[in-house]
Amino acid sequence: MAKGTLRFYEELNDFLPKHRRKTDFEAPFKGKRSIKDMIEALGVPHTEIDLILVNGKSVDFNYILQDGDRVSVYPVFESLNITDVTLLRKIPLRRNKFIADINLGDIVKYMRVLGFDLFYDPLLTPRKIIEISNTENRIILTRSRKLLKFKEATHGIFLRPGRTPEQIRRIIDYLDIKDNIKLFSRCLGCNTRLKSVSKEKILNRIPPKTKEFCDEYVQCPSCDKIYWKGTHFINMKTVVRQILGDFSISSGVLNDQIYPTP
Ligand SMILES: [Zn+2]
Repeated sequence: MAKGTLRFYEELNDFLPKHRRKTDFEAPFKGKRSIKDMIEALGVPHTEIDLILVNGKSVDFNYILQDGDRVSVYPVFESLNITDVTLLRKIPLRRNKFIADINLGDIVKYMRVLGFDLFYDPLLTPRKIIEISNTENRIILTRSRKLLKFKEATHGIFLRPGRTPEQIRRIIDYLDIKDNIKLFSRCLGCNTRLKSVSKEKILNRIPPKTKEFCDEYVQCPSCDKIYWKGTHFINMKTVVRQILGDFSISSGVLNDQIYPTP
């Protein structure tokens, strides 16, 4: 039987059994086998991959494996010098817009707290999620490998088990989008960008005690929800600090931005 020698780099190793991580290993195959099929059969979703080298040359997902091929598979990462090789995608994975699969818990809320554009509708089917991802250039966030194995899924991040702050930190680091954080700039309910609103305009909607201590308010132009600095705001800041760690201090991201509390 024909065989190829494969090696996976960086976090792609998380998808492999221990004995195949960070080492060369041989994989046998029969007949005409595309590199995409081979890689997914090994458990790595193609959406996590940005570059494949076969015998040192970049190939696309349709490449048909040949006996004796040496295959290196890379996720998105910057330290690799890729200037003279062709990436699998014309548009890099580093995007800012997301669509969430179901069962992501607090991830949806805190991605929006950080200001990321994250579409979420618990009634969407997997097919619909992929369709929106493609038409609106959104990265799929999911805990389902199955969803990322659909042929039509082009951009996705598989969320490994873990605590919400660590998972969000991984998304931010992976895509290198720290500089795009805009804290409390987006409606937590419907994802729309918030706009500041004068106190006078919404006076009858603010609790009497809040009126006394708070002069700044923001409002969602879409669902009309009003936000201000309150107890929720302080609690959320604590989680944001857990997500961003040192970055929240060095960047000053927590110092001067806007507020929520419904
Ligand atoms: Zn809203």
